[in-house]
Amino acid sequence: MNRRTRDLRIRGKLATGALPWQPFPRVWAGTGDGHACDGCDETVERVDLAMEGTDSVGRPLRLHVECFRAWEDIRDRGMAALASGGPAPRWTAEALSPAGSAGQH
Ligand SMILES: [Zn+2]
Repeated sequence: MNRRTRDLRIRGKLATGALPWQPFPRVWAGTGDGHACDGCDETVERVDLAMEGTDSVGRPLRLHVECFRAWEDIRDRGMAALASGGPAPRWTAEALSPAGSAGQH
């Protein structure tokens, strides 16, 4: 899978809530065991390095290392765009508005 395809899948998951905007409270590294990656949906093979963690509601998630980094990077860029007061990328606004977290404080 190329980077662009992976980034699009991860953005889509952020937009639908399949991946959280918050970093994992706990994260650890491991190897794959044949489960699907929560980032790109491809199998995390036994030879692949994976990052595992649970999100803020305790949901377990497992991603390829590359997908984990891409997820962090996309989150950071989306948050930075919002923090700067500039127009957020459309996918960011869509992802944040249903949760009601924007403008509630
Ligand atoms: Zn992946």
